[in-house]
Amino acid sequence: MTTTTTTTPGSLVKKTEEEWRAVLSPEQFKILRERGTETPGTGEYNKFFEEGIFCCVGCNTPLYKSSAKFNVECGWAAFYEGFPGAINRRPDPDGEGTEITCAACDGHLGHVHKGEGYGTPTDERHCVNSVSIKFNPAKSSSETPPEETS
Ligand SMILES: [Zn+2]
Repeated sequence: MTTTTTTTPGSLVKKTEEEWRAVLSPEQFKILRERGTETPGTGEYNKFFEEGIFCCVGCNTPLYKSSAKFNVECGWAAFYEGFPGAINRRPDPDGEGTEITCAACDGHLGHVHKGEGYGTPTDERHCVNSVSIKFNPAKSSSETPPEETS
């Protein structure tokens, strides 16, 4: 049995490199922890437009809504915004771009580009490795168990 690390929103997920290697696939580890980039056009979410939420594959934190995803021929999944506070950004060491990471576990997601004129509400494009995220389908009302809502 594997135990799942439970995280409270806003808390920082800290694992050693060994612990990350244990929970991530080699490809996930390379991208999330070593700031790798998947081969353009290979990501499973590039042309994926189901309704739901994309979560960090490292720590399950919700990062992007499917409604913020847009179709662009860049070779990676593109979003115009993430959940507030879910994503950190910092300049690349070479100053060429802006890296985006999961705010909770510091996993590398991809890069954000501004002012490209795609006509999105933010005029930003979060260029995200599909390897870094995991899709959770929206619960359809027919499948929702009859629970009282608070
Ligand atoms: Zn994360």
